[in-house]
Amino acid sequence: MSGSAKKNKYGLTAAWEVFATELASGASQSDAYRKAYPRSLKWNDKSVWDNASKLAANTEVLQRVKDLQEKACKANEITVEKVLDRYWQIATANPNDLMQYRRECCRYCYGENHQYQWIDENEFFHAEEEHHELKDEAERKNSNRKKGQPMLVVDMPPPHDLGGYGFDPSLSPHAKCPKCKGKGNESVFIADTRHLQGGASLLYAGVKVSAQGLEIKTHDQMHALDRVAAYLNMDKKILGGDKENPLSMFLSEISGASVSITKSPSSESDLDDEN
Ligand SMILES: [Zn+2]
Repeated sequence: MSGSAKKNKYGLTAAWEVFATELASGASQSDAYRKAYPRSLKWNDKSVWDNASKLAANTEVLQRVKDLQEKACKANEITVEKVLDRYWQIATANPNDLMQYRRECCRYCYGENHQYQWIDENEFFHAEEEHHELKDEAERKNSNRKKGQPMLVVDMPPPHDLGGYGFDPSLSPHAKCPKCKGKGNESVFIADTRHLQGGASLLYAGVKVSAQGLEIKTHDQMHALDRVAAYLNMDKKILGGDKENPLSMFLSEISGASVSITKSPSSESDLDDEN
């Protein structure tokens, strides 16, 4: 009966293929048989069992079950690798790729002789205009002032451009700046999250907008590292107590804010070289 049925490239009929697939995914022989041959649902258990065990001993079926199980194992391995790789990328991502706390140069850091530096002529022109308006306003108020009211200062010094142009706040503060003493001004930079790449894109967990401002959320890097350590069965208590242990140094290194990580060195191959 089944011998005359059309066989697939594994030498299995459609019913055998179902039987093998069910077996490979963990079903009992009888249940697999019932699935492959629905008519056997009406049979008694012994008949089903007899036929099922006979079919399970078939060479083609045996081979197919073995292949399917190996394939499943392989697929499972890939998943573990992928998950592990994701954790690893999060654990080793550089948060600076996502956001930065910067100390930027002040207006006097790079001006000529540390004089106030303008961005460009246009900015200086607007500053001059503003100065004239303030002066005019003060003169107008002085001429209209009532008796007893104090005179407003009108000879305020006009802005100058002795410091020149080209102010660029992205530069680091000048160590010898007489104004900021090399400290610069604080600034927070957040990268355009549409263009994040690699670990930074996996580290990014969204943005929260509230009355207090923006909050960039990130996944927990130490948690990700713990997951990797757990997979590798690392006992951090032992590693933590051994400063000579390369893995211990490795762990303490990657817990820092800025990291540059290569693959964990294989100490075994080093030992092999010595033999
Ligand atoms: Zn400065």
